[in-house]
Amino acid sequence: MNIATLLTNAAKPFADRPAIFSGERQLATYAELLRNADGIGGWLRRQGVRPGDRVGLFMSNVPEYFEALFGIWMAGACAVPVNAKLHAKEIAYILGNCQAGILFATGDRLETVAAAGEGAEAYVPRQVLVPGTDAWQEAVAGPAAGMAEVAPDDIAWLFYTSGTTGRPKGAMLTHRNLFNMTLSFLADLDPIDQFDCCLHPAPISHAGGLLSLSYLARGAANVVPVSGGFEPPEIVSLVNRFPGSSLFAAPTMVKRLLLSPAIADLDLEHLDSIIYGGAPMYVEELKQALAAFGPRLWQAFGQGEAPCTITYLPKKLHLDIGDGRLEQRLASVGIARTGVEVRVVDGDDNDVPPGETGEVIVRGDVVMVGYWNNPEATAAALRNGWLHTGDVGSFDECGYLTLKDRAKDMIISGGSNIYPREVEEVLLTHPGIVEASVIGRRHEEWGEEVVAIVVRRDGHEVTEADLDKLCIDNIARFKRPKRYHFVDGLPKNNYGKILKTELRKTFGK
Ligand code: AMP
Repeated sequence: MNIATLLTNAAKPFADRPAIFSGERQLATYAELLRNADGIGGWLRRQGVRPGDRVGLFMSNVPEYFEALFGIWMAGACAVPVNAKLHAKEIAYILGNCQAGILFATGDRLETVAAAGEGAEAYVPRQVLVPGTDAWQEAVAGPAAGMAEVAPDDIAWLFYTSGTTGRPKGAMLTHRNLFNMTLSFLADLDPIDQFDCCLHPAPISHAGGLLSLSYLARGAANVVPVSGGFEPPEIVSLVNRFPGSSLFAAPTMVKRLLLSPAIADLDLEHLDSIIYGGAPMYVEELKQALAAFGPRLWQAFGQGEAPCTITYLPKKLHLDIGDGRLEQRLASVGIARTGVEVRVVDGDDNDVPPGETGEVIVRGDVVMVGYWNNPEATAAALRNGWLHTGDVGSFDECGYLTLKDRAKDMIISGGSNIYPREVEEVLLTHPGIVEASVIGRRHEEWGEEVVAIVVRRDGHEVTEADLDKLCIDNIARFKRPKRYHFVDGLPKNNYGKILKTELRKTFGK
């Protein structure tokens, strides 16, 4: 079954319901969205695209994203949604790696597309189609070709890992994977219906777009902010306009929302869920978010290789349910998602007991079939039928998973393992600190030493001595940062993840 069936099915009962908005302006009903996607699918076929061919999407968040995505699937092709903030060299690498002949690119990306066509690893797609142009309108209005037949294990989405480390690898997500991800969301989120609305301030190329499939399946509206980005005042005004609003937000976005004076005007009655994930949410920030937004937070832990679907912390488990475990739950990434098996294992893939730390591994129909053209990386990640996530964590007796850190982020100082997250959690309890990131720095004697990069809250005078005292009061002495760097902001990628690789380059030597 083709994943585009989500749309062809929804377009019958919800034909006249609004499917796509640009800000507050309705652009397409479900019938119109299907017609437009079918037009794009027909255009792709006329360009010679065959089932299985890769088609790139280098687009900032625009309403046409959905036409393009479903158009690709209508043609039976494989979508390659690329982070719109990537550098020309990165784009050239990704498009060259998967040999995407056709590219959908927004006008604001065209300079980068041109630059991707220069230099040693240049890549030039044979055709670029730009939303908002006459050519796009002609494609959308052109002869439709209907939905192509695909096999469940055909690739629907190549998800290039966000590249906080190394060169991006294309996780191959099949139609089966995307269906199961969608079903798991429908099972684990609160019920979604045609009167709900999914806002898209986070990149559609990533979790926001994956999540939208569940909303589209239920005939809900998809609203793309006019700014195309995460602007707190705009989000507040859209929530106030659309009852039943939900949105995906990386933890750094939740934080930006929290820090914005605009939330004083937020109509909480209209806010259904803030679905957060993609990076660690610190307990202190989660508590602030719960205080501001009430029981509307829903956490997802996943990765491109098992898209958004490993564990979750539902809204009600963010509350005190009288089991004396609230703190542990808030520090966790929750429980296994519906239809997914999750284990924590040692180096030989043996389960470790609750409370002990090991690698998180996952099995289920959401797990990718491998990395595009990369058998070595595939063999390393998919062993014995399980996806090895590279995330380190532990289960408690009740099945709640708590992540420590990515294995590669762990600091080893004097032979002791230090998980940066633990130190960051402590630093963030200081009222004068808004952001903190902890990395290892090479050290002659200890192997590595702990370095903290912190951002002070405006108007707060926080000193190294204050932070040192805070750490001494809360964690083992060997985990204390030996050095502090005060900066104005931490480097982040387009998905709001803090780029530790950048911090290591600047502060880790
Ligand atoms: P990506 O494939 O770019 O989505 O990155 C996935 C990685 O982000 C995971 O392997 C985790 O290390 C991290 N991640 C995702 N969700 C969470 C979460 N809820 N809490 C902590 N880390 C997360």
